Amino acid sequence: MIKVRNLAKHFGELVVLRDVSVDIKKGEIITVIGPSGTGKSTFLRCLNLLETPTGGQIFIDDIPLLDKNTNIPKLRQKMGMVFQGFNLFAHLTVLENLTLGPIKLLGKKKEEANKKAMELLKLVGLAEKAHAFPDELSGGQKQRVAIARCMAMEPEILLFDEPTSALDPTMVSEVLAVIRRLAREGMTMIIVTHEMEFARNISSRVFYMDEGIIYEEGPPNQIFENPLKEKTKAFINRIRSLHYAITSENYDLYAMQAEMEAFCEKHGLTKKVAGFVALMAEEVLGLQKDFADVKLGLAYSEKDGTVEMLCESSGLPENPFDEGVMADDIGIKLIKGRCKSVDYDYKDGKNVLLLKVKGE
Ligand code: ADP
Ligand code: MG
Repeated sequence: MIKVRNLAKHFGELVVLRDVSVDIKKGEIITVIGPSGTGKSTFLRCLNLLETPTGGQIFIDDIPLLDKNTNIPKLRQKMGMVFQGFNLFAHLTVLENLTLGPIKLLGKKKEEANKKAMELLKLVGLAEKAHAFPDELSGGQKQRVAIARCMAMEPEILLFDEPTSALDPTMVSEVLAVIRRLAREGMTMIIVTHEMEFARNISSRVFYMDEGIIYEEGPPNQIFENPLKEKTKAFINRIRSLHYAITSENYDLYAMQAEMEAFCEKHGLTKKVAGFVALMAEEVLGLQKDFADVKLGLAYSEKDGTVEMLCESSGLPENPFDEGVMADDIGIKLIKGRCKSVDYDYKDGKNVLLLKVKGE
């Protein structure tokens, strides 16, 4: 359905896409991951000509997109794009947002457009908001309307550029659920996302972008569990862990806890587990005698579904988990009660504490 050959995009001296070649079949669900600034958005924008490629070729159903004689607007209609921001028309109702394009650009009659729009609003769970205005909706609802509006143009391919990254964490899942629903209905989709658990579950293939190319591509199992190439491995390891370096007692515990909870939920752990992890961080930090040099890390282990919390510090008491020592400490009790294992060691002049929190 989409054939990309030697696609390049430069911005002046900056080479963002060096040489991208790839084939995407009808019904495939591709997720695109990678560090920021590696050209993921640029790749999507080139596909629907929001950017003009510097070189290479793109074929949609064997029609060359970059050929002068190609009917671009027609080809473009095959592709719908959903952005981070929702870009709804604020002065139009939800229903009008959905029918404007079909009436003006597809020449549909109003009744027909309304009927289709209502079907789509049902699909995204927002039929009862048809006559509301965008600013009466939550971020998650707006994004679902934006997806429905895209679908109203009857595209054959949907492109998503980080559709959930502008949303509050509580609204991410409703939008992902809608995308999943479209996937089940056989829509061809290319999705740039940071939601790794989602990417893993939904994709037929994952593209890891780096160095101006699709650096590694493969089924989700390969990319997330056994990446073959160096940079993919490093990226996957990085997103599986969080690191904090604390150097004074004035650290922001609450921000750290919120980030840890989001991290856990991204990896598909329940809110309950995420809450435990945040609590463990608080308890571990509560054990410190001083905060001059504390390193706290969180890692998710795919294999046994546990979250490991590692604390290296010169401020930890000597052996807090030994019988008798600090036995009455509430923090110690909590940690012992809720962790699958607690290891404590002294290494290179530092105390090292490793907790494994059960992932249920
Ligand atoms: P990603 O989506 O992977 O984070 P982008 O495709 O947005 O990356 O951007 C890749 C690089 O291209 C970045 O360094 C960005 O600053 C640059 N870039 C993107 N769009 C433009 C533009 N219109 N003009 C100049 N530089 C751009
Ligand atoms: Mg981007």
